[in-house]
Amino acid sequence: MLQTALHFSHTLLKEIVQPGQHVVDATMGNGNDTVFLAELVGKKGRVYAFDIQEKALQSTQKRLDDKVLKHQVTLIHDGHQHLENYLGKEEEIHAAVFNLGYLPKSDKKVITLPETTQQALDSCLQYLARKGRIIIVAYYGHAGGQAELTTVANYCQKLPQKDYNVLTYQFINQKNQPPILFCIEKK
Ligand code: SAH
Repeated sequence: MLQTALHFSHTLLKEIVQPGQHVVDATMGNGNDTVFLAELVGKKGRVYAFDIQEKALQSTQKRLDDKVLKHQVTLIHDGHQHLENYLGKEEEIHAAVFNLGYLPKSDKKVITLPETTQQALDSCLQYLARKGRIIIVAYYGHAGGQAELTTVANYCQKLPQKDYNVLTYQFINQKNQPPILFCIEKK
């Protein structure tokens, strides 16, 4: 069966992320992607995981403790637009993942926003290694979601073909605005 956008995001990450690499979870949320990435990079790698809500850090910390993965993860209680404050100047990342929208079962008003998402994407591109990928899973059914989707789609579409491969993946016959995936791969 065709994979959901969420499942496909993991396939795209698994294809390229190697043990020892550095990667970014730009929207930790309930920690799903943080755990997944921590397993891929292993003990010698590093996952930088961001969220602006304390609640997200707590649930992610718990999941990492349960799986003994905390060694390779840095949990950051800050906006992903401040990525450069946490990475070394010459540091390279091989992947970054964004799950846009609000934290499920939480305050629907705390959402990722077009301007800061764009800043974070700019920043990720600066650190992205060759063959590295940035994956964005855009949920857009909530208030404010459509504006952010438009910003992300325009941003991705304008990236120069000589430097990046960019794709979208979406189900076009499903109800209730299923998420749309974007993948930016540096050539
Ligand atoms: N909609 C997705 C989950 C999105 S979670 C789903 O249904 O699975 C998005 C997370 O991004 C939330 O936990 C939210 O707190 C966080 N967030 C919002 N703005 C942020 C920012 N500027 N930097 C980092 N995280 C942010």
